[in-house]
Amino acid sequence: MSYQALYRMWRPQTFRDLIGQPHVKQTLVNALQRGQVAHAYLFAGPRGTGKTSAAKILAKAVNCLNPLEGEPCNECEACTAVQNGTGMDVEEIDAASNRGVDEIRQLREKVQYAPTGLTRKVYIVDEVHMLTTEAFNALLKTLEEPPNHTLFVLATTEPHKIPGTIISRCQRFDFRRIAPELMVERLETVCSTEGWTRSEEALWKIAQAADGGLRDALGLLEQTSAFGGGDISSENAAHVMGGVESVLLVQLLQAMWQRDMAKVLNLLGDWYERGKDATRIVHDLLQILRDLVIIKMSPSDSLPGHLRLSSLQDAAQQLSVPWLMQGVKKLGETYTGLRYVDDPRLALEAALLALVPRDEDTEERLHSAHQASGVKSESGVTVPGKAADKASASTRSDANDSREPDEPAGATGPSGRQGREAALAPEPSATTLAKPAAKKNGRTSESRKQEVLRKLATEADNEVLERVQSEWQQILQRVKDERIQTHAWLMNGQPVLATKNAVVVVFSSRFHRDAVMKPDERTVIEQAFAQAAGISLQMLALLKEDWEKFQTPTEPEPSAALATESDLAEKAVRVFGKDLVEIIDGE
Ligand SMILES: [Zn+2]
Repeated sequence: MSYQALYRMWRPQTFRDLIGQPHVKQTLVNALQRGQVAHAYLFAGPRGTGKTSAAKILAKAVNCLNPLEGEPCNECEACTAVQNGTGMDVEEIDAASNRGVDEIRQLREKVQYAPTGLTRKVYIVDEVHMLTTEAFNALLKTLEEPPNHTLFVLATTEPHKIPGTIISRCQRFDFRRIAPELMVERLETVCSTEGWTRSEEALWKIAQAADGGLRDALGLLEQTSAFGGGDISSENAAHVMGGVESVLLVQLLQAMWQRDMAKVLNLLGDWYERGKDATRIVHDLLQILRDLVIIKMSPSDSLPGHLRLSSLQDAAQQLSVPWLMQGVKKLGETYTGLRYVDDPRLALEAALLALVPRDEDTEERLHSAHQASGVKSESGVTVPGKAADKASASTRSDANDSREPDEPAGATGPSGRQGREAALAPEPSATTLAKPAAKKNGRTSESRKQEVLRKLATEADNEVLERVQSEWQQILQRVKDERIQTHAWLMNGQPVLATKNAVVVVFSSRFHRDAVMKPDERTVIEQAFAQAAGISLQMLALLKEDWEKFQTPTEPEPSAALATESDLAEKAVRVFGKDLVEIIDGE
């Protein structure tokens, strides 16, 4: 097959060239330098990790006339003979096709003769686990009394199938899967040498698909190049490997998040037309959901390279952890169930539909935003915002987040990313534990809404409010430039209250209020705030009647008490750190 050509071309010629396997290289080079090379080695490890390459380098190094620091020179007669496969002294035996006792007996006879051109005869036995029991016994006799001029290298992907008696006669090296980072580096070098254009994402995809085997990675690279005429794009790579490119998978997730089912079904339809099957699509979706969860849960500097691609980072910022986790769960079930259904496509579409976020009540989002910031709720559920904390850990240093790293979340109210994470979370999570009670009891939801407003009022910043009000026309214009529909809704709103991080906008119509709170609408509006007023603000949309109710409170007494209690809790959190304080419901 043609892909072997590329692999052969890039086969390492020195230990230094061998990718990964530092422990193998170091030990062999040391032994060569000291002249203490063993008579038999066992190279075990997954396919394509460099076992045969290392064996060939070793064969050259023990015979090289001008070795340098344990490495072969690759120029002398001996090196050239080994490299070109001329001469009788280095022999590569494929045990898969020569597994019988007769072949090994022949080998035993040959071993007795001194080498003809080189100093040492080298026998490389590939896939040695394929030998029959008799053949192993014959081989064992040779390994028990090896002539001084011989060296055996036994290579295998399945060391557990080799008799212990053989293994104990060999010095064993375990070759590891090659890290994707190292493979991408090598693929990059190959591409630039070959003059191929490539996207970083495609190289990562190939490295991941190769599962630690460089030979497979080079094979996929060459096939992609052949298919794409030297263009290693994500699309061409996905075509060769049968999967869906990440950028489209991300688009699907975003469309689901925005409840754009038409787009979801269109994308799926395209993939089916291009011959992708449901199982593969679910597999690829699971992979990307896993990647996004890892991105959200880990500090960005500890992420492996393929998770630092900007397309994934951007997507991770838009989607919430609870929703992603729900996706992993649902699609995981779908994945195992697909083989039992008659219509996999229908099953997949149903699973995706089930994952579309429900249209949560806006107040609930507003409420959960506040809960995430560590405020005690009326039902006594104390949520220190830990889930959101972790989720936003990777983006903590983001410019939008004005909090100091050590400052407790409760000190700034529903601010920055932390509040937003929870506000966008469409699913029940740690931050919305009190929700069922709210649904049952209108009175509770009502007073909670009022409590959030009271909390915001204690943090009110009139300077910010004046700035927003004076720039309101500017903000509307920016929104209009971006999206006319959003502008049509927002122009019915009126900014009435602002803190350093949030602004409350009231609407007379429930429809307008709900419309502007949809994630993509909010993004447009909040960007306009940042551009026109120069402040990063989270928008909370509110019904006008709720705002009026708040301004003329009917029960002023409990509200004052509550505010004080929250302040106290906050102070305690500030002093002791939020992990050490448990706020207990006094009722
Ligand atoms: Zn040499």
